[in-house]
Amino acid sequence: MKTQNKKGIPLRVLCLEDSTQDAELTKEMLSDAGYELQFDVIEKEKEYVTCLESGNYDIILSDYSLPGFNGMQALEIAMKICPEIPFISISGTAGEEIAVEMLKKGAVDYIIKDRIKRLPFAVEGALKKKEAKAATRKAEEALKTSESKYSDLYENAPDMFISMEAVTGTIIKCNKTVTEITNYSKDEITGLSIFELYHPDCLREAKKAFTQFNTTGELRNVELQMRKKDGSKIDISTNATAVRDESGRILYSRSVLRDITERKRAEEKIRLLAHTIKSISEIISITDLEDKFTFVNQALSDKYGYSYDEIIGQHVNILRSPNNPPELLEDVLKHSRKDSWKGELQNLTKDGREFPISLKTSKIVNENGDILGLFGIAEDITERKRVVQELIDAKEKAEEMSRLKSNFLANMSHEIRTPLSGILGFSDIIQDENNLEAVKKMAEIINDSGNRLLNSLNQILDLSSLESNTKKVNYKLIDINYIIKETIVLFSVTADKKNLKLKIEFDINTLMAYTDTDLISKTLNNLINNAIIYTNRGSVTVRAKEEIINEKECIVINVIDTGIGIEKKNLEIIFDEFRQVSEGWGRSFEGNGLGLSLCKKYMNLIGGSISVTSELGKGSDFRLVIPKNILKDDKDIKTQEKSSVETTQPDSLQIKSGIKPKILYIEDDPECIKLVKYIVTNKYDIAAVTSGAEGIEKTKNNEYALILLDINLSKGISGLEVLSEIRKIPYYKDIPVIALTAFAMAGDEEEFRAGGCEDYISKPFKKEMLLEKISKALNG
Ligand code: ADP
Repeated sequence: MKTQNKKGIPLRVLCLEDSTQDAELTKEMLSDAGYELQFDVIEKEKEYVTCLESGNYDIILSDYSLPGFNGMQALEIAMKICPEIPFISISGTAGEEIAVEMLKKGAVDYIIKDRIKRLPFAVEGALKKKEAKAATRKAEEALKTSESKYSDLYENAPDMFISMEAVTGTIIKCNKTVTEITNYSKDEITGLSIFELYHPDCLREAKKAFTQFNTTGELRNVELQMRKKDGSKIDISTNATAVRDESGRILYSRSVLRDITERKRAEEKIRLLAHTIKSISEIISITDLEDKFTFVNQALSDKYGYSYDEIIGQHVNILRSPNNPPELLEDVLKHSRKDSWKGELQNLTKDGREFPISLKTSKIVNENGDILGLFGIAEDITERKRVVQELIDAKEKAEEMSRLKSNFLANMSHEIRTPLSGILGFSDIIQDENNLEAVKKMAEIINDSGNRLLNSLNQILDLSSLESNTKKVNYKLIDINYIIKETIVLFSVTADKKNLKLKIEFDINTLMAYTDTDLISKTLNNLINNAIIYTNRGSVTVRAKEEIINEKECIVINVIDTGIGIEKKNLEIIFDEFRQVSEGWGRSFEGNGLGLSLCKKYMNLIGGSISVTSELGKGSDFRLVIPKNILKDDKDIKTQEKSSVETTQPDSLQIKSGIKPKILYIEDDPECIKLVKYIVTNKYDIAAVTSGAEGIEKTKNNEYALILLDINLSKGISGLEVLSEIRKIPYYKDIPVIALTAFAMAGDEEEFRAGGCEDYISKPFKKEMLLEKISKALNG
């Protein structure tokens, strides 16, 4: 017979028996059946309890009649201490009733001693039962643990579990997650209709899903929106299965609701990005670590002529023109992988057409910083390049034209000034020195015409230098009143001729400003000139005063006339270039329409402004605002400058008594020589030569007190070169040299002064000016 005990492990039997013979018999029976045994025989209750408490037994075999207690009591004790150990009652005396009672109380078997042979079978059966019981207990325990584990899972699952009645939609049960997400308590949720948990925005879909569930008994990934207690919305995905009765009728649903708000947001973002990339007109691509395309947008396909499928998987070089320097392409990849690259490349379309692109790349990295690929955004810059090239060409052309224009103007200026010197100079002299009234009148006309021509020339040249931004502002501390006085004097004769009163009104004697004398006197010149031209009777007044304008100290000059006035509609346009109120063949006044626009530009240059108020038939009032630009520290200089201004007034020639100072005039134009000689000959001993070489020669052998020097000496060396030779002669190191030249463009004077000339006179010149400058130079 097969025994239950494992090999080497004896069956531990506790035998309650007061008869040694019976105990031996029992032991023999079991040994014969093949059991290895640990067989302990006891008969007293106390011993029995001790053995049971040791827990060392696999089975208890008990006689019924024992000394001091019986089998029933032994069974009861065993059931208390170790109910899992099988208990077999062996009795020769107890009747059937006791047997039944014992079996009821937990004995596994009951054997009558007469039929002791059955014992091995009974033991085996008992052991089997014990094993099965142990297994069941284990399973029950496992089930218990697993149940508690699942209830934990149910309650704390990341998803929401809801059970509801199928027909009514009433919620029966939900897990903790539902309460956490919706902020409802379990009590609040239980009994609610499921529709109260859906957001009103999706009620229609929710009802549809509900009907579908009641028809099919399940829902798979139905996306709806739930309403939290505070009314806010979350996106959910619902899966539901039905619990049915025996007849198949759906009783209730077990639903799993997953919060997919984040996923939805992410999807929305991705969708938005996808749409953006699709709609963007820039060319967008993503390449992998082998520089092969993994994504391109529609703009790229359109531009290069490759379909999406054709280009995906291709190396980026498929788009690059072979005309790109290889180092450049390497550079792009190297820098893009490192961080980013930005620049221009030549690219190729599928049909071989080359075009320039502006490309920006950057690496794509994941959250761990690993490079996933490269992102590129490019733009076809053919058009931009063309426009830039056109602009460069236009700029170069404009610069060339401007250079030509400047050259032309400089030449024209020189060529007009030289003969004008003769015209103006001699007509002036004739007026002074001829007694015949008719001839005087003619000389006056020649002189007026020449001056008008000279004025136009100066205005055109000024406009040109203002337009090319070469006009420089020469800031000095000056007395504006003095400039006004000096300017107005020039118009006294003209005003007299028209019978107009010329008036000056000053608030205070000196009005100092840190500004440009030349620009202010030109502006005043224009305004007073216009005022006289456009006034037939009455007066022209120049008024000057200090004013604070926009918290700045300013000098305000008004040039007021009582002339024809200007129509309102023309007040704006008169400051535009070339504009005259009367234009066309029928224009009634002289002028080139440049004067006021130049005035406006001069004022802008010194940070000032010009404006006008006028009434037709009554007169005009031109107002200049000139910033004083004087800081507190300049107040001292103010007085110094004032006195220095005053001393610059022309003073009488100081010729040393008796001896006329010797002057050398180097000039290639014989008419100019004649004119200058005529002007100075009474006061100076003048010698003239017509070439630079002669001039140098003369200085070697003579000691002149002053040199008048033309700069353009036609052939051979220029006036400045002549001067540098003359300066080498020790006597001429500090002898004053005055440039007397028809070069009168912006910057010319500065250049000649830098070349060693002490002073500068531009042709044509006034005889008074020539005499004054000579005198000033000679008197130091
Ligand atoms: P122009 O050299 O032709 O005088 P301006 O620019 O100096 O050019 O003046 C533009 C126009 O403004 C003149 O043609 C004239 O019609 C008008 N104008 C200028 N000053 C006065 C003034 N004081 N009175 C009336 N009209 C004037």
